[in-house]
Amino acid sequence: MPRELKDVLHDWEAVIGLEIHTEITTSQTKMFCGCPVAFGGEPNSRTCPTCAGLPGALPVPNKKAIEWTVLSGLSIGCDIARWSQFSRKNYFYPDMPANYQISQFDTPFCFDGEVTVEVDEKFTWQRYDRGTADNVKAVEGDVDKGYNARIGVTRIHLEEDTGKMIHVGGSDGRITGAIASLVDFNRAGLPLMELVSEPDIRTPEEARRFVHKLRNIFLTLGVSDCSMEEGSMRVDGNISVRKRGTTEFGTKTELKNMNSLKALHDGLTYEIVRQVELIESGGKVTQETRHYDPVTKVTSTLRSKEDAQDYRYFPEPDIAPVVLTDAQIEEIASRLPELPDQRKDRLMKDLGLPNYDAGVIAGDVELSAYFDEGLASVGKGRLKDLAKPFANLVLGDLSAYLNAEGITADASKISSADCMELVGLVHEGTISGKQAKEVFELMVESGASPTTIVEERGMKQLSDAGELEGIITAIVEAHPDQANAYRGGKTGLMGFFVGQVMKETKGQANPKMVNEILGRLLS
Ligand code: ADP
Ligand code: ZN
Ligand code: MG
Repeated sequence: MPRELKDVLHDWEAVIGLEIHTEITTSQTKMFCGCPVAFGGEPNSRTCPTCAGLPGALPVPNKKAIEWTVLSGLSIGCDIARWSQFSRKNYFYPDMPANYQISQFDTPFCFDGEVTVEVDEKFTWQRYDRGTADNVKAVEGDVDKGYNARIGVTRIHLEEDTGKMIHVGGSDGRITGAIASLVDFNRAGLPLMELVSEPDIRTPEEARRFVHKLRNIFLTLGVSDCSMEEGSMRVDGNISVRKRGTTEFGTKTELKNMNSLKALHDGLTYEIVRQVELIESGGKVTQETRHYDPVTKVTSTLRSKEDAQDYRYFPEPDIAPVVLTDAQIEEIASRLPELPDQRKDRLMKDLGLPNYDAGVIAGDVELSAYFDEGLASVGKGRLKDLAKPFANLVLGDLSAYLNAEGITADASKISSADCMELVGLVHEGTISGKQAKEVFELMVESGASPTTIVEERGMKQLSDAGELEGIITAIVEAHPDQANAYRGGKTGLMGFFVGQVMKETKGQANPKMVNEILGRLLS
């Protein structure tokens, strides 16, 4: 039985660097030809002599794809190359028709960026040097609350995607045991950004947050649909372990086939434990590429890297070098939208939302758009009062509803303006918070607006001071024993009286006023 991550992290530290391939799915056309970009389709229906690798076909670089790549680099603080070129990466594999991939070698479009990930309380146990390593900062104010880790980005370059192999009869899509292998070139030639991180990641949770954050940034930019399941965002994990306190890197393995954030976390976790156990039992990690199986949660050897390939990169002779001027880069920079970190800052500074609320909302593109729509549906002057209860509703009942339906906020049947209206009804005292829960459920059922539901059901909160005073006086007089006991110090009986009032008013009494009146009459 392998040990668990927490058992090995006392003595060992993981070193992780990620390579992330993202298809520029918002591009209309492939990287070097005019074929359309789309997922799936009849195999080999979206091909032409260029992306099918026929000799003599001439590649023409996709200007939009270069701009999207530069935009992506700028969004994570990269420097942008003023001069770069495409190179041929030579190797043989049946999913690559030309026997070389047009990629970039020593002059990537973007280099030296960084992404800061916030790791919350629940996962700080994975990191022992929190607050001491130079790229890590404990969250201000409370050392136990989590930390921020800065992850360097070495580069982002642009290349063409390969085709897709289908191994008929192979297990888990692998060639082992297959009786036939087919190839589909629809994906061949799609514009593909490759981002390479520095080996700055130390825990599976940091890796997950890093990819989640990048995904969120790329979705905000509109570069890609970033689907790990459909393969438009593919993450390879490079991983090694070393004794805590040492600085030298160990031998790394490269993990493939982690098709979700959970698979990434679990695959890295398995691999850390495997490497530690191997070394502790006198073995040695061999440099190799390993396959992660999400069903068994186990990694296994895919191919050895001992005979490390020499790709014989050389400048692509059919494409002129790309020169970008300062003015062009500035123009691209001017297209940068509000990014997740800025979004979070705005929610905290302008609306006074707590770090947690702002982080969860800003960490999800659809939820952010939904939230902003709600904010826009009421006057600016009311935001100070309504923003926090609105965040509570969005992160509470609304998120529960979205999770139950398995949908994202953009597909919500309940409009953001209706949610905000509901929050307003509670704030004005028209209905109680308890009634709001009921109204929310009715909104889910009927799609009606909260005001309509409240009116149709006569759910108005009872806020008439005179009427409430009358009801409460009668209740206190009807229970003299409890009233005396309360006055004698049994303050727990307050709940009993509130319950009586709610029973009498069918839950419609304004709770704030009930507390106030009860407190007065029982003193
Ligand atoms: P390769 O020559 O195998 O392609 P690179 O130096 O180009 O290796 O790095 C590829 C990725 O592996 C990068 O994300 C890098 O941060 C990461 N990496 C490099 N060395 C290690 C190591 N010893 N342990 C873990 N990750 C590493
Ligand atoms: Zn084509
Ligand atoms: Mg490399």
